[in-house]
Amino acid sequence: MSTPLIDPLELTRDAWEALVVSWDYPATHARRLWKYLHRDAIDAPAAMTDLPIALRSRLEVETMFRPLVTAGDAHSRDGYTRKFLLRLFDGQQIETVLMRYPGRVTACLSTQVGCAMGCVFCATGQQGFARNLTAGEIVSQALHVDRLLRGESSAPPGKHGSRRDCGERLRNIVLMGMGEPLHNYDAVMKAVDILRDPSGLAVASSRITLSTVGVVPGIIRLADERRLIRLAVSLHAATQAERAALVPVASAWPLDELLAACRDYATKLDQRIFFEWTLIAGTNDSPDHAHALGQLLRGLPSHVNLIPLNRTEGYAGRPSHSPAARQFQAILGEYHLPSTIRQRRGIDIAAGCGQLASPATARR
Ligand code: SAH
Ligand code: SF4
Repeated sequence: MSTPLIDPLELTRDAWEALVVSWDYPATHARRLWKYLHRDAIDAPAAMTDLPIALRSRLEVETMFRPLVTAGDAHSRDGYTRKFLLRLFDGQQIETVLMRYPGRVTACLSTQVGCAMGCVFCATGQQGFARNLTAGEIVSQALHVDRLLRGESSAPPGKHGSRRDCGERLRNIVLMGMGEPLHNYDAVMKAVDILRDPSGLAVASSRITLSTVGVVPGIIRLADERRLIRLAVSLHAATQAERAALVPVASAWPLDELLAACRDYATKLDQRIFFEWTLIAGTNDSPDHAHALGQLLRGLPSHVNLIPLNRTEGYAGRPSHSPAARQFQAILGEYHLPSTIRQRRGIDIAAGCGQLASPATARR
């Protein structure tokens, strides 16, 4: 039986070192290989000219890249947002968003094809779950964006083929694309470790935000493992019954358990938590709702992100009007709860929160 080929982006730097040493080459070769992959965006072994020819040949035989194929590339009229439809090796498709604000470049990465959590207002939830992404597929989205930012086609490689100094760099990552990251915990954490490796893309932990629907065991594990990335929790309601109507998995991980896990996380890691609240007119945007949220989060270091609902095909709700959103925010202020009303960007290309999905043809 033949051994499956290795996806080079699937391995952490330590794993590469162990593998290369097991092939009787020094660990320094693994470190050079790592830089080719994660700094220089070079993936063909033949182009890794600093490595011995025999090692390059072994890489040709034992590894197989699974490049993401760009099947769509949409620019928003807002001038800041760009959305990619990317095809995976098995024909499944995912979406990745690049947000390029002055002084702040962020990639919004997907972690699954579809999502099993079924939040009623979310296009990804409405399509259902197809499969988890591998760590390599998650990392590959970031490299795709980084490569573009550095203008790979316009800038010639520098010394040793490095293009590191050309153009912008990807500095912020939000795991807020398609899928529930804590439902694919191991692959997502391996990807996080690869993305923040100082000799790779080197995205700081404090600039990686993971958004969860509230998978309690995952939040507990994150706290135990002291991951120190930023945690965002999608709340949307301050009572169990109201939350369960919007987020079906709330019945598996009830609100009191979720809040207890959040309090524990904030204490253990000495970090505040971001809470997301999709504002839906007439559903969760009244002054009473704002007071309930203020009371719920009392004493918990938090920041609330208010996200006016983005329209999706499968949900009839409407976004809150601006005065209601501002009143909601003012009430949170009475509880000394900092909050932000998220700007609606990328809506014309369906790149807003909850609008990402695979085209119907790619679904199973
Ligand atoms: N699964 C994770 C991350 C992906 S969803 C999570 O649920 O947190 C990213 C964010 O978009 C979440 O806060 C989610 O509640 C929000 N969202 C989903 N559908 C939305 C919609 N139609 N309008 C506005 N926000 C939405
Ligand atoms: Fe999944 Fe998040 Fe969408 Fe809910 S909001 S269905 S958890 S992607």
